[in-house]
Order: sequence, then C-alpha cells, then structure tokens
Amino acid sequence: RAKIHNRSRYTYFTRDLGVEIRERVRMMHALRAAFEKDRLFIVYQPQVNMRTGNTVGAEALLRWKTEEGDFVPPDQFIPIAEYSGLIVNIGEWVLRTACFEWATLSKHTDTNFKIAVNVSQAQFSHPLFLRSVERALADSGIPADCLELEITESMAMNDPDALIESIAKLKAIGVRVSIDDFGTGFSSLSHLQKLRVDKLKIDRSFVNQMIRVNNDASIARMIIELSQSLKIDIIAEGVETQAQAELLISFGCDYAQGFHYSKPQTKNDLIIWLTNS
Ligand code: C2E
Ligand code: MG
Ligand code: MG
Ligand code: MG
Repeated sequence: RAKIHNRSRYTYFTRDLGVEIRERVRMMHALRAAFEKDRLFIVYQPQVNMRTGNTVGAEALLRWKTEEGDFVPPDQFIPIAEYSGLIVNIGEWVLRTACFEWATLSKHTDTNFKIAVNVSQAQFSHPLFLRSVERALADSGIPADCLELEITESMAMNDPDALIESIAKLKAIGVRVSIDDFGTGFSSLSHLQKLRVDKLKIDRSFVNQMIRVNNDASIARMIIELSQSLKIDIIAEGVETQAQAELLISFGCDYAQGFHYSKPQTKNDLIIWLTNS
C-alpha cells in the first residue's frame, strides 16, 4: 500500500513539474510576442514629498496586457524575462521610453522632476549597459541627474566589487542610483557605505509593519537613521495610510510612494495629476 502511495505521489510530482515548465515556456513565448507587438507599456507611480504634497518624481513600472485583456503582474513575468534573457531588451526599452517621456512629464511640474527605472541584475551586469544609459540620455535629452536607476539589495551580494565599479561609472556620468526594497537583502553596512548609492527605498513590508502588523516601527526607523548618518536620500515604499505617513515624517523621512498618495498611473493620467497638484 505504501508503495502505491509513493508511486502515485511520484507521478503527481513529475506531472506537476512538467506543467510548470510548460507554463513557463508558454509565458516566455507570449511575453516575447507581446514585446514585439508593443503590448507592454509603462505606468508611473508618483513619488511625493509628504510634508508639502509636491510630486518630485515617478517610478516607471512595466505592465503587460494580454490579447485577452488580462493583466499579468510583473512579479510573474519579470522573473521569466530575467530567466530567458528577454529582460535585457525589454529593460532597455523601459529605460529609453521613460527617458523620452520625462520630457513631457517634466513640462507639467516645476521641480527637478526625476524618473526612476528598475534595472535587473542581467541588465546591470551586461557589458553594454553603461553605453545604453549614455545613449538614452543623449537621445532623449533628460538631464543625467533626473534619471534614477533602481537596483535591489540582493544584487549587491552577488559580486560586490563589480557592483561598486558599475555604480561608480554610472555616477561618473551623473546618473543617480538607488537601492530598492531596502532591508530585505541583508547587505552589510560597510558594503552599503562602499556602494555610494544616492538613495534607499524602505521596503514596503517594513512600512506595513509599522502600524498594521504589530506596531513594530523599529526597522523603518533604523533604516531612516542609517540613511541620515550615511547622508543618503530616503523614500518609503508602500505608504497606504495617513498614520504611516505621519510616523515616517516624525522619524525624518519626508518622501514616499504608495497608494495613500497614488497608484501607478498612465502617462496621460500622471500629466493630469501633475497639473492639478
Ligand atoms: P518595485 O520596484 O519595488 O515597485 C513597487 C511595487 O509596489 C509596484 O508593484 C507598485 O505598484 C507597488 N506598490 C506601490 N505602492 C503600493 C502600496 O501602497 N501598497 C502596495 N501593496 N503596493 C504598492 P508592481 O508594479 O506590481 O511591480 C512589482 C515589481 O516588479 C517591482 O517592485 C519591480 O521589482 C518589478 N518591476 C516592475 N517594472 C519593472 C521593470 O521595468 N524592470 C524590472 N527589472 N523590474 C520591474
Ligand atoms: Mg522599484
Ligand atoms: Mg520596491
Ligand atoms: Mg520589488
């Protein structure tokens, strides 16, 4: 009886794995086709000064709407884009599009409006990445310091020296670099100091935890204090309530992104938002 049980579990397992692989391959082909047919687009989430209410920038976030009209979440398709190598071309398209759209967006705001673009590991470590950033700047006319490249903390762990060097080269051309989802990747503090990034983005799990989960604001507070002592800019991700905003301000963090202010919006909606705010 035990044998039969084991065998059926084994069969179930292999069939399940087969389904998963086939599904991934299907998604990869669909993603490539969507990219080629211009079915990917970008939405922008405002980055707000919580004290003044001013929108100081926006993060470009990739969206995929299938021919059936369904949205596939980035957390599902970005890993597939990374795994298949598609991310290099898709990422370059996001970078260029965001840089070109900056010209339109910045006309509707009087601040030194910044565009943040997420960059994957494969893209960042690609030998032609620096050149593609330079080209995007030159072709679009966006000032270098209005472009912010978001990398994740876990990227910092793979090859620290190579990362330090890549960041230094980007900073030499005037582009800003920020660490996304900060606090989730356990990079060491001495390493963080060596990276010389411009900005930390407090991961939304810590913002959430401040009030909702167990009133634990210790990590958010510690990250804010860390940014102050290292003189790095700080922004909180995933701010959903006024209470979170007030607590963050009281800790010395003035900037935020989150549903409390705005969900990611199409470029045209963002223009209306900028005009009205
Ligand atoms: P991320 O870069 O950390 O982006 C922030 C994510 O948090 C976005 O999810 C945004 O919609 C969501 N968010 C913002 N405010 C709130 C809030 O108040 N509450 C909650 N619950 N969520 C909030 P999204 O757009 O689904 O993107 C997920 C992730 O996919 C991004 O996380 C980023 O890692 C990746 N991604 C998106 N676009 C790109 C891209 O162009 N290139 C690369 N490499 N990755 C991308
Ligand atoms: Mg990001
Ligand atoms: Mg994030
Ligand atoms: Mg993320």
